[in-house]
Amino acid sequence: MSAMLEVKDLVVAYGKIEAVKSISFSVEEGQVVTLIGTNGAGKTTTLRTVSGLLKPVSGSITFQGKPISGTAAHSIVELGIAHSPEGRRIFPRLSVEENLLLGAFARKDSANIRHDLEAAFDLFPILRERSKQPAGTFSGGEQQMLAMGRAMMSRPRLLMLDEPSMGLSPLMMKRIMSTVKTLQEQGTTILLVEQNAQAALRLADKGYVLEVGSIVLEGTGKELLTSDEVRKAYLGED
Ligand code: ATP
Repeated sequence: MSAMLEVKDLVVAYGKIEAVKSISFSVEEGQVVTLIGTNGAGKTTTLRTVSGLLKPVSGSITFQGKPISGTAAHSIVELGIAHSPEGRRIFPRLSVEENLLLGAFARKDSANIRHDLEAAFDLFPILRERSKQPAGTFSGGEQQMLAMGRAMMSRPRLLMLDEPSMGLSPLMMKRIMSTVKTLQEQGTTILLVEQNAQAALRLADKGYVLEVGSIVLEGTGKELLTSDEVRKAYLGED
């Protein structure tokens, strides 16, 4: 069986600077796959390219057997890929509910949108309690919940999360990571970008370590968690 998402020899550059240097990875249906690595490794660039926000220099991106490289970002959402971006990018003046509804912009089945709004509220009850409030009044963790809820409003097959744990307290981070697991159990495939290697690898079926634009290690979450190289470089152990 071929993978849900297959990225092959992907090269992405900003002008002359290659931020992603020929990486290949795959995400199988039902999995949580993580890309880990330090600042500037090329993780965000990779997600933005899969989303159609950046055009690759070369390489291929295949989703459910279809090449999608060069496809417009809104069409990629329609195909079933949602992106919860780094820094959340919520609209602070809009209400929580309005922010969530923006996630459903590409859908044609308006009858189901209410249902999915309720599903997002069930996932994160705080969103229901404060649905009419401006999203800008939310804490960082709550904004992360909103960004994830908004991404789920497009009913994605593949959810891409860019550093959901960034700036969160350990407790809030646990909450977010356990929701990633819940979404997987509910049938969503997940591509998770994280600087917090430990939290991501604990959850992941498979992981890839990126360093300055290249994949330097790959394995199951467990393998990478116990690998000496990962422990030294990313988990702060000697
Ligand atoms: P972070 O966790 O800091 O976001 P990352 O692994 O996601 O790191 P990217 O944001 O993909 O890394 O950045 C990869 C490289 O591309 C970095 O060297 C970065 O400075 C560079 N880069 C990112 N965006 C741009 C841009 N718009 N113009 C020029 N260079 C960029």
